[in-house]
Amino acid sequence: MEPIASSLLRPTVPLVEQVAGFKVKGRLRRRCKDCYFVIRQERLYVICKTHPRHKQMAMKQRDYKSWILTHATQSKVRPY
Ligand SMILES: [Zn+2]
Repeated sequence: MEPIASSLLRPTVPLVEQVAGFKVKGRLRRRCKDCYFVIRQERLYVICKTHPRHKQMAMKQRDYKSWILTHATQSKVRPY
């Protein structure tokens, strides 16, 4: 067989590296002993070196849920 044809017939090995993205979750938990928490860009992350599929990312908090709730914003009756 010609060398060109043999190179075309050879099965191609996919060069795609398997990379797991972050799962977006409301509540994060460690799934093994190697998972650890990191806060980056105002978000909580779980990163795992041994099991990349354990990587998680907290959902972004809505703006209205980040209000600081005090007497002034919660009740009409002010304590002062
Ligand atoms: Zn893990």
